[in-house]
Amino acid sequence: MKRILITGGAGFIGSHLCKRLLNEGNYVICLDNFFTGRKRNIENLLPNPNFELVEHDIIEPIDIRVDEIYNLACPASPPHYQYDPIKTMKTSVIGIINMLELAEKYNAKILQASTSEVYGDPKVHPQTETYWGNVNPIGIRSCYDEGKRCAETLISDYRRQKNLNTKIIRIFNTYGPNMTPDDGRVVSNFILQALKGEDITVYGDGSQTRSFCYVDDLIDGIVKMMDSNLSEPVNLGNPTERTILDFAKLIIEFTGTKSKIIYKPLPSDDPTKRRPDITLAQTKLNWTPKVDINEGLKKTVAYFKELIN
Ligand code: NAD
Ligand code: UDP
Repeated sequence: MKRILITGGAGFIGSHLCKRLLNEGNYVICLDNFFTGRKRNIENLLPNPNFELVEHDIIEPIDIRVDEIYNLACPASPPHYQYDPIKTMKTSVIGIINMLELAEKYNAKILQASTSEVYGDPKVHPQTETYWGNVNPIGIRSCYDEGKRCAETLISDYRRQKNLNTKIIRIFNTYGPNMTPDDGRVVSNFILQALKGEDITVYGDGSQTRSFCYVDDLIDGIVKMMDSNLSEPVNLGNPTERTILDFAKLIIEFTGTKSKIIYKPLPSDDPTKRRPDITLAQTKLNWTPKVDINEGLKKTVAYFKELIN
């Protein structure tokens, strides 16, 4: 039985990963400081004798014997990571150093949840892993973008200098049940606004694009990556790209709401376009997202409906 540490395990993606790895017969240690994570996400796992919850902040060192580490701890929505930008940067940088030291001590494999944000406002479209990005180092998103970029650097240096078995995935916008309702991300905002009959808030003119991946697909990719022999970064996301305005219209149609679209100012440094090139994941991991947007939205809307009722 493998002992697997999942940092950020009580968050949106982490909670799905905990469930999946427990179901596969592993001993799962979920570590979280509950900044954006919620007990609700992992409550049904607590009675499982192979599940352990550790309340801890990864900016402090920790000593737990483990075989694998999935490092997901980090607030992921812009309002949450901008709430305390210094802490966000510490979580990415000091946090990954602590996890790399732990991996070295127990000769464990370590996977880092990096992000499409390392490409910034990309000049290459769709984004391939070989693109180095176009990132503002001093803007309001930099605590997250540069923190994640620095974590990628540290991981690469620990791999080269200390021979660690490391993995980096660059996650593109992901959605599904267990998203935090107040995290301010576009999927949770639009669905909740639609369900409550409130105005749908499109930032800017809505011409910016994103590509949304359903969480089950992402989890498959994460697990395949950990089991692979790849050490270079791999994009994981759904390449179906749409404008935010089209996404707002889709949510209106999907929920049958009477909500109207209103326009609000575009936050600074908001990337104008984003779409993963997933050739590497397709060819090297034999991974491709399978869940279409209607199927994914059905489950996500049902989750949010239950939350507000
Ligand atoms: P989330 O906010 O739901 O989960 C993050 C978890 O990390 C939370 O449970 C939070 O409490 C915990 N955490 C934060 N700081 C911590 C610290 N210092 N010590 C311990 N725990 C801490 O976000 P998510 O969407 O589940 O994202 C998980 C990971 O995936 C993050 O690293 C994020 O950067 C990355 N990612 C997510 C997306 C996405 O679309 N959801 C896209 C790209 C990358
Ligand atoms: N957005 C929006 N309305 C909202 C929330 C977000 O128009 O209520 C836009 C946001 O400006 C961005 C896109 O939707 O262009 C995706 O935002 P999100 O915060 O979900 O993730 P990002 O990809 O920006 O990290």
